Amino acid sequence: MARYSGAVCRYCRREKQKLFLKGDRCYSPKCSVAIREYPPGQHGQGRKKPSEYGMQLREKQKARRHYGVLERQFAHYFELAAKMKGQSGENLLSLLERRLDNVVYRMGLAMSRPEARALVTHRHFCVDGKSVNIPSFLVRTGMTVALKPASRRLDKFVACAEVNSARPVPRWMDMDFEAFTARIVALPAREDIDLPLEENRIVELYSK
Ligand code: SF4
Repeated sequence: MARYSGAVCRYCRREKQKLFLKGDRCYSPKCSVAIREYPPGQHGQGRKKPSEYGMQLREKQKARRHYGVLERQFAHYFELAAKMKGQSGENLLSLLERRLDNVVYRMGLAMSRPEARALVTHRHFCVDGKSVNIPSFLVRTGMTVALKPASRRLDKFVACAEVNSARPVPRWMDMDFEAFTARIVALPAREDIDLPLEENRIVELYSK
């Protein structure tokens, strides 16, 4: 499946907010959003106030780009969310949050979600003792995600764990930094997801 491999900082500039797609650089003065606070492209500085549809579209794109999900896959998540009990918007974010690449990022073992995705595909992680290399794998309550023993010695993970151990761990996972494992103790609720997204607009967009 085709995946965008160009300059991801364009995404942040388009959404006018940091999506944290590049690790260390996102926290440095080199961040493109900090340097150029307007959307990319020829008309980036001349756009007028967006329409209602435009705002709904932007929220959907923002969510997609935060989690690194392609258009069709995102629509599939929405279909699943709409069939679940409760509010579709909250269900959608909960599903996205349960992706294995996001769990690895939340565990603090990657500096960004794109990096977490690459680490999962390179088979560094297992779920309940079995190797999983599918970034879209959805974790469930009671599952344990762990860095493989052979990977625990790698400088990359040791450094990441050191840097990120101060980062707050979501309350839906029980993290053991010494063992590089996280047990999923609940499903993520909306209040556990710190992303500035207006999921109601996404629901409105898909309900047309
Ligand atoms: Fe976005 Fe990070 Fe690039 Fe800044 S450095 S624009 S936060 S991807």
